[in-house]
Amino acid sequence: MSQGAIIDGAAFAAGLRGRVAEGVTAFRDRAGRAPGLAVVLVGEDPASQVYVRSKGKATVEAGMLSFEHKLPADTSQDDLLALVRQLNADATVDGILVQLPLPKQIDEQAVIEAIDPAKDVDGFHPVNAGRLASGLDSFVPCTPLGCLMLLKDRLGDLSGLDAVVIGRSNIVGKPMAQLLLRESCTVTIAHSRTRDLADVVRRADIVVAAVGRPRMVKGDWLKPGATVIDVGINRVDAGEGKTRLVGDVDFESALPLAGAITPVPKGVGPMTIAVLLRNTLVGACRRDGLDVPAGL
Ligand code: NAD
Repeated sequence: MSQGAIIDGAAFAAGLRGRVAEGVTAFRDRAGRAPGLAVVLVGEDPASQVYVRSKGKATVEAGMLSFEHKLPADTSQDDLLALVRQLNADATVDGILVQLPLPKQIDEQAVIEAIDPAKDVDGFHPVNAGRLASGLDSFVPCTPLGCLMLLKDRLGDLSGLDAVVIGRSNIVGKPMAQLLLRESCTVTIAHSRTRDLADVVRRADIVVAAVGRPRMVKGDWLKPGATVIDVGINRVDAGEGKTRLVGDVDFESALPLAGAITPVPKGVGPMTIAVLLRNTLVGACRRDGLDVPAGL
């Protein structure tokens, strides 16, 4: 395999969105309705507003119904839980996504646990996390599932490969490790207390970085030919009053050594929304007792 290849996550995500849109057309023909995704935003966090807007746009572009619920920053936990219960009971809603983070008066975990696991397209409910860990069918969080799709597209069979996941969050690190274990990788989870991270990374055929620290993983930590998936999104100073996005991996020093690497932006980022649409269609098929289209 050639070294220094850049994995085009944006192109892969566009392909997946196209397959989802075809699946939605077939679903509408058979079910007589469109899949629906409800997105709930509490407050006015600028990054969350951008995410919610692009999720709604992509949902409509895929031929699905988009229900946006925007609540004020001082919304009480009871009011948010009441909305979640209403969406759980709404037959036109197949997926429910509550945009995180939530304002501090709201207990995020309580909200996650109030979502019907059959509509939990983010895969954060403990029932879905537990099912994933038990090797059962479940909703899988969008970002790690997108990373796995990129890895399988690049490497094919992952069985027996050494994989290091840096980060142990419920949203990325832990489900990523579960997915790689399901693919029969030998999985190491590194985190903030890991003693010699460079040494751990050096053993890996696959490195997934999900930390949130700009350019932390250096090129000379990598085993030559390793496949590197950079989940991090960090805004850094670009001089002259401008900023730019970088990943958790030092792209310039990693590119010559890596077998393949995702850039930031246009690597993992576009996969997250594409997988959200995929999960919503899968949820709609399951709820209506229809087969999930192939290739998803
Ligand atoms: P998090 O803050 O919940 O978790 C970060 C993890 O990194 C923790 O488990 C911590 O143990 C580990 N860590 C911290 N310092 C470390 C160190 N010095 N060495 C090793 N490990 C260390 O973050 P998260 O929600 O998992 O997100 C991680 C990154 O991925 C962030 O930059 C976030 O913006 C990005 N992200 C991107 C997408 C996407 O769509 N591309 C989606 C989710 C998160």
